[in-house]
Amino acid sequence: MTDVDYCVIGAGFAGLTAALRLKQAGRSVALLEARDRLGGRTFTEVRADGSWIDRGGAWIGPGQDRIRALMTEFGISSYQQFTEGEALLVVDGKRHRYEGTIPWTMSPWAALNLGTVLLELGHMCKAIPLERPWAAKHADKWDRMSLAHWLDSNALSKPARELLETAIAGLYTSDGSEVSLLFALYQMASGGGPGFVLGVKDGAQDARPVGGMGAISGAMAARMSDAIHLSQPVRRIDQDDDGVTVRSDEMTVRARRVIVAVPLAIASQIRYEPMLPVDRSFLHQRMPSGSILKIAAVYDEPFWRGDGLTGQSAAPGSPATITIDACTDTARPGILCVITEGPIARRIGRLDPAERRRAVLGSLAERFGDKASFPVDYVEQDWSVERYSGGGMLSHAPTGVLTQFGPALRAPCGRVHWAGTESSAVMCGWVDGAVRSGERAASEVLQQETVTAADGLATER
Ligand SMILES: Cc1cc2nc3c(=O)[nH]c(=O)nc-3n(C[C@H](O)[C@H](O)[C@H](O)COP(=O)(O)OP(=O)(O)OC[C@H]3O[C@@H](n4cnc5c(N)ncnc54)[C@H](O)[C@@H]3O)c2cc1C
Repeated sequence: MTDVDYCVIGAGFAGLTAALRLKQAGRSVALLEARDRLGGRTFTEVRADGSWIDRGGAWIGPGQDRIRALMTEFGISSYQQFTEGEALLVVDGKRHRYEGTIPWTMSPWAALNLGTVLLELGHMCKAIPLERPWAAKHADKWDRMSLAHWLDSNALSKPARELLETAIAGLYTSDGSEVSLLFALYQMASGGGPGFVLGVKDGAQDARPVGGMGAISGAMAARMSDAIHLSQPVRRIDQDDDGVTVRSDEMTVRARRVIVAVPLAIASQIRYEPMLPVDRSFLHQRMPSGSILKIAAVYDEPFWRGDGLTGQSAAPGSPATITIDACTDTARPGILCVITEGPIARRIGRLDPAERRRAVLGSLAERFGDKASFPVDYVEQDWSVERYSGGGMLSHAPTGVLTQFGPALRAPCGRVHWAGTESSAVMCGWVDGAVRSGERAASEVLQQETVTAADGLATER
């Protein structure tokens, strides 16, 4: 039996931050992590030549102040995403080279329709109260409707519709029919609107930490290595009047309170005794994650830069749906990141690896030329088959969930508190949201100490 003040479950950015802040407040902590590595949905692979590949979360952007604060705390710098040149779009059988967010070389009608839809989405996002999206004026109407349904009625140009499905439903790594419009608006609003979410420069892909996300999580862990227990999947949490007992296969931890910082989609794999309140346990059953395949094609150099391209491209429906330059700060080797999401990720995930690689590299060659067919290395990460993530990038709410169960997203259940990016009202779904949620959960449990002390004093009197 390990006796500590607080137990934290999950060593992603939410759990690491919660544990760090509690340790810094002078409390003893046990952080139990199921995997044999840190970072959860971030996973930095350091290569023999010193370069690194972020197989999961990688980019940061303006407004993501809490991950920035952690980087400052640990002396980790960032570098700008490479954006000099043109992006590529292959849609409706045509190839476009363009600069900026809107590919104006599409037909004027398609470009206008795309711009209008993005403006309208931005306008709707402004009507979402971030702490209580279920209380938005049109919450009921928007939560009854899927994102796909709204796009069908508003994105009337075929190429604009295809691009929006890829870009926006892609955020939830799902088909637009699987995601509530209200949830999509809320998640985009939590990042500042579609401009931020879809943007590269000054958007969500503006910069990267030097050394990858693993440099940050590694530095955090080094500060509290005595608290971290890897390969400890938690199976059960019992709470009673005095505290909680948390059990993995090998460890039993007794603590005053526990912070659960695992993705919502898999939080129900833990058994809670007594059973959680209905709203919380139903929330666990109703917020799945989508599918995402993230691939790094590594070349001796970023040859696309020489061709005047940023490396950013989109080809709705293709096995290499989205690409983006993922080189390190030294720009050697050339790393092209391929992201494929939702139904296509599931489809190509079922192919045998050699066939999948042929399909992906074939798509890249169509867009970037023959050189793309011959990477010196090829690294695949399929988040759908990660037992302790349950998919990626984030758990989303299908129709009807946020209005009925949303208030349970953050509400503690007795001595069980909740962290994880999905519980953050700001930057929900990003690493920054995870950090914010860890800080919120840590201050929540510390505040309870004050409440308990005040109660004790009142009883004595
Ligand atoms: C492919 C991909 C690309 C992304 N790109 C970006 C990006 O560029 N920028 C960005 O900001 N965000 C990005 N994200 C999202 C970002 O990675 C997540 O928002 C963030 O990492 C979530 O952190 P978290 O701590 O909330 O959850 P997680 O990172 O999922 O951490 C949860 C932890 O709990 C552990 N766990 C699960 N079950 C148990 C159990 N029973 N017992 C003990 N431990 C358990 C898991 O192993 C995991 O370590 C991306 C995600 C993916 C998958």
